[in-house]
Amino acid sequence: MKSSIRRSVFAAAYRLLDRVSPTDGDCGLLCGSACCCAGEEDAAAQGFNLGIYLLPGEEKLFAKRDKLFEWSSSKAEDGDFPASWRGDVYFIRCKTPPVCKRNMRPFQCRFFPLAPHFDADGALRMILFPMEHLPYECPLISEKYPLSESFIRASHTVWKRLITDPLIRDLVEYDSRERDESELVFLTF
Ligand code: SF4
Ligand code: SF4
Repeated sequence: MKSSIRRSVFAAAYRLLDRVSPTDGDCGLLCGSACCCAGEEDAAAQGFNLGIYLLPGEEKLFAKRDKLFEWSSSKAEDGDFPASWRGDVYFIRCKTPPVCKRNMRPFQCRFFPLAPHFDADGALRMILFPMEHLPYECPLISEKYPLSESFIRASHTVWKRLITDPLIRDLVEYDSRERDESELVFLTF
């Protein structure tokens, strides 16, 4: 899919997110890196397909022959995506989780456990990722761990830039309207 965001802007967003982390320590120690390593069989049994969707244009940062990931693509028209999305959506799986080149983590890993949400007034807010959509338990969500303010702020800053792209904005709008706001946990910073 065509993205209006240049590669250099995506790269700058990665660099900004490289400098922050949801917690002071390694939260993977709390859960055995569940978000990287949750059993694929469990996920399949629950109807989930573990892996990572890239945002439109994010593929500009990767070489598709990259040894770190297994690549696949599907047509946006055939999946659960905004109506404006047409063409290839890329899906990658880590080959060696939880070992990864951290500076090559895709956005989905960098923002987790946050998600962007347009509230009823149309404002961009950061929320905790709704747990019912996960095939594993993230203690940062289930135990409502206090998350680092710098992480929340940086995530919000990057999302503000990302939603200037119409396709990415449509995705955030699409996901937001699927949620029941009364069940969301909004983060402040
Ligand atoms: S984000 Fe959640 S699931 Fe992932 S490693 Fe940290 S605590 Fe575990
Ligand atoms: S890219 Fe890194 S952080 Fe993301 S799922 Fe793979 S191993 Fe985990």
